[in-house]
Amino acid sequence: MSRRTALWHAVGMCATALRAWSLAVERTRAAVNLVMQDVEAELGRGAAIVVVGTPEELRQSLGTLRPGWRTVLEGAVGDVTGWFLGSDGSSGIGLGGWEYLDWEDVVVGVADVIQEGIIEGSKHWGAAFPLCREHRTHPMEAHVVSDRASWTCPKGGVGPIAIGTLALQAK
Ligand SMILES: [Zn+2]
Repeated sequence: MSRRTALWHAVGMCATALRAWSLAVERTRAAVNLVMQDVEAELGRGAAIVVVGTPEELRQSLGTLRPGWRTVLEGAVGDVTGWFLGSDGSSGIGLGGWEYLDWEDVVVGVADVIQEGIIEGSKHWGAAFPLCREHRTHPMEAHVVSDRASWTCPKGGVGPIAIGTLALQAK
């Protein structure tokens, strides 16, 4: 391999890696936005804070939002493209690892993390989020139903509700 070819090869790999990263980040961002529409519909604005970006961008934004976290996040490398911030100042949960998943599975993965973060945080600890429209006592679960990322009743009550559309459903 000539020096020029080697250089071109390195640049090409770099560009491919960058494209993969930006795609993973954008998919995470789109899925987070969708799920956050439901968070806002159910619990109001500010019920959860999620930041999205490359590991370096995450370290920067989290370092600003939670000074002192930089060291915690040094370990959060690899395919993390988002971070759920704990409401009680806990370190939160990383989002990512779904670059090979179908879009609907990505949405379900993001919904799982955000749901877990919310109901285990001090602000909404144990809340039935999102509230089952039929039984009104327990949370719904995120699953892909008929190729669509949906909230479903674990007891088979209410039919699946597309994630991102809870605002359209009477509570
Ligand atoms: Zn139910």
